[in-house]
Amino acid sequence: MEFELSEEHRLIKDTARRIAKDVVAPRAKELDETCEYPHDYFEAFKQAGLLGMALPEEMGGTGNGILPLCLAIEEVAKYECGAGLMLVLSGLPTRPIMFGGTPEQQQQWLPAAANGDLKGAFCLTEPDAGSDAASLKTRAVRDGDDYVLNGNKVYISGGTVADFLTVFARTGGEGAKGISAFVVDAKSPGVVIDRTDDKMGVRSVPTAHFSFQDVRVPASNLLGGEEGKGFNHAMLTLNSLRPTVGARGIGLAEGCISYALDWARERKVFGDAVIDLQAIQFMFAEMAIQVEAARNLVYKAAWLVDQGKFGRENAHHLSIAKAYATEMANKVAFDSLQVLGAQGYMKDHPLERHYRDARQLMIVEGTSQVQRVVISRAMQDRALVYG
Ligand SMILES: Cc1cc2nc3c(=O)[nH]c(=O)nc-3n(C[C@H](O)[C@H](O)[C@H](O)COP(=O)(O)OP(=O)(O)OC[C@H]3O[C@@H](n4cnc5c(N)ncnc54)[C@H](O)[C@@H]3O)c2cc1C
Repeated sequence: MEFELSEEHRLIKDTARRIAKDVVAPRAKELDETCEYPHDYFEAFKQAGLLGMALPEEMGGTGNGILPLCLAIEEVAKYECGAGLMLVLSGLPTRPIMFGGTPEQQQQWLPAAANGDLKGAFCLTEPDAGSDAASLKTRAVRDGDDYVLNGNKVYISGGTVADFLTVFARTGGEGAKGISAFVVDAKSPGVVIDRTDDKMGVRSVPTAHFSFQDVRVPASNLLGGEEGKGFNHAMLTLNSLRPTVGARGIGLAEGCISYALDWARERKVFGDAVIDLQAIQFMFAEMAIQVEAARNLVYKAAWLVDQGKFGRENAHHLSIAKAYATEMANKVAFDSLQVLGAQGYMKDHPLERHYRDARQLMIVEGTSQVQRVVISRAMQDRALVYG
């Protein structure tokens, strides 16, 4: 068992830390207000080679893996949770192509995504199909050399800036086996953005609502050239990226603790610094316990993914890490805001923003309840055994 970060890991962490301080932190508050997609963040990630970490070298990526991606996400999410999401988005629309695409499809889309020339978005959720994604209704019907796509997708992160969309649509009957995956050029006629959301948090990365109106997609863009495999590609993608959502939670929590600790050293109450109060010291100790527990779960989950262990038999480990780390981030954001008293409630400080941002993490890529469904299923199936 090895708990030390490698030299390569430290280098990636340091690179991300520099970008976090120089590029991400100065604009975090402004972006929360303007909701403008931060192209400068993307450019910094691109220049530093951070966008191809989730992809192997033979597909144009850097082949670093999910653990190093988590380390980078953690650093930038200390200042702005949306910056962490942008790095997650380097994997979310590309990994279905990595898992299910033909070699030609992989070469067509992945090197350009890995080096930041193309941005993608992952289109699974629909107005009537969120947690129950297998009930999605968007339909793709074969017509000559094309499929004709009709339907709606909602809350699509990065949808407004995407060049390509990885879309899950029904080509067959009811249920998961009737779902296929397509790569859709976002500029295709009939791809319409109906609206974007006015969100509680993570406001720098817009979520778009798409309608597909008779969109013609070349049959050569059906992933793997085979119908009915799309749901599996979606689930493998979500499973393998669970640690990255957890990493956003760890970074956010660390950012909260660091800010609140600095403040508590300065603020005087009853003649002493707030940090001298034992009740406050114990709050910080509790936060540290939770962050370190989450870190171990998330790094282990990321390591499992990098070993190729993210199928159904290991899904519970990934769900435990995602659920714990994202719920931890909410508790830490809550308590660190409390340390500042009234000041914590004000937009003069970043803690109210972190508190709003943290809320997203328990919903996206499988809610906390859905993670518990996965974990309890593993216990019933005896994949997770105690005693
Ligand atoms: C900011 C943001 C960004 C997003 N980005 C994307 C994106 O890029 N691409 C994309 O495809 N989707 C995206 N989503 C959608 C997200 O994945 C879904 O919101 C999520 O899967 C939950 O679906 P839902 O909102 O429809 O809730 P529902 O499925 O309607 O769930 C409602 C409630 O029921 C609970 N529930 C559901 N099923 C069960 C169960 N079996 N047992 C117990 N409780 C259950 C849920 O936990 C929740 O509390 C995004 C969402 C948000 C908020």
